[in-house]
Amino acid sequence: MSILVVGSVAFDAIETPFGKTDKIIGGAATYISLSASYFTDKVNLVAVVGDDFPKEQIEMLQRHGINTEGLQVKKNEKTFFWSGRYRNDMNTRDTLVTELNVLANFDPVLPESYQDCEFLMLGNLTPSVQSTVIERLRKRPKLIVMDTMNFWMDTARKELEKTLSMVDVLSINDEEARQLSNEYSLAKAAKKIMSMGPKYLIIKKGEHGALLFHNNKVFFAPALPLEEVFDPTGAGDTFAGGFIGYLAHTGNTSFDNMKRAIIYGSAMASFCVEKFGTERLINLDQSELKNRIQDFIELVQFEISLK
Ligand code: AMP
Repeated sequence: MSILVVGSVAFDAIETPFGKTDKIIGGAATYISLSASYFTDKVNLVAVVGDDFPKEQIEMLQRHGINTEGLQVKKNEKTFFWSGRYRNDMNTRDTLVTELNVLANFDPVLPESYQDCEFLMLGNLTPSVQSTVIERLRKRPKLIVMDTMNFWMDTARKELEKTLSMVDVLSINDEEARQLSNEYSLAKAAKKIMSMGPKYLIIKKGEHGALLFHNNKVFFAPALPLEEVFDPTGAGDTFAGGFIGYLAHTGNTSFDNMKRAIIYGSAMASFCVEKFGTERLINLDQSELKNRIQDFIELVQFEISLK
C-alpha cells in the first residue's frame, strides 16, 4: 500500500563527539522516505526546497523509488537549514541553528496521483502545514502517523493541539512526551497525550528503546546495543519510516502488527546511527535488514516456565 510522506528536506550541519560535518542533506522527510523505501516502492514525498538543493540528491531519492512529484523547488530561495551538537552521552543534543527559509511559507501541494494514499506520515514540520495536508486529502487515509518536536510545543502549541486531534499515532521522544503532557511519569504522560487525539502513542527513548501505548496496553522494544554510534541525527525519523513502511507493506494496522512494526523501525534506526547523516541508509540491502531483525529477535527472546 502507498505512503504519503510530508516533512522537512534540509541541509544539516552536525557535531558529535566523533566528528563534524559541513552542510549535508537531511530533514525529517528525507530520512522517513529513505527508510520506508526498503518496505514499499510506493513512497510519495511532499516537501519544499530552495534552488540551492543539489539535483543529484533529488535523483538519489528517485533511485530509491521515491516519487518526488510533490517536492517543490523554489527559485531564488534557500533550503531549510538545521544545525545541532550532541553531548558526550549522544542522547542529548543542542540545536545550534534553525533557519526555516523556504519552510516559513510552505504551502504543500498534493499531486492528483497522491490522493488515494492509504498511509500518511506527517514528519516533523510546522503543525499547521501538517493539518493542511490532512485537509487537502479528499479521503482520510487508513492510518495517520505524526511526529513533532519541542520546537513546535514552544512556538505553535495551539496549532499542534489541533493537528494532534486529527491523527491516529503520535511518535515523540521521552523528553517531548513530558513537555507535551506536563507529567514526569511516562505512563501518565501517555494517558494524557492519548486523550488529546492519537489512539496510539510511541515514546522513543534513544539507546533505551521505544514504548508503544494503546488504551491500557503497553509494549516495549529495546534498541540494539551497537558498537559504533556516530550520529543519532534522523534516528527518530528513520524509525518512523520503518514503522509506517512495514505497516504499509503488510496492510495491517492492528496493535499486534504495530509491535512488529516497532521492531522494524528500531532496526532501521540502528543502521541510521552507524554513519553520519543519511550515508548508511542509502546503501543498505535486504539481507542486512533481515540479519538485524534476527539480532533483535535474539536480544529479547527468552523462555520461562511458570509453575
Ligand atoms: P531527528 O534526529 O529524528 O529528530 O531528526 C533530525 C532531522 O530533523 C534533521 O535532519 C533536521 O533537518 C530536521 N529538523 C530539525 N529541526 C526541525 C524543525 N524545526 N522542523 C522540521 N525539521 C527539523
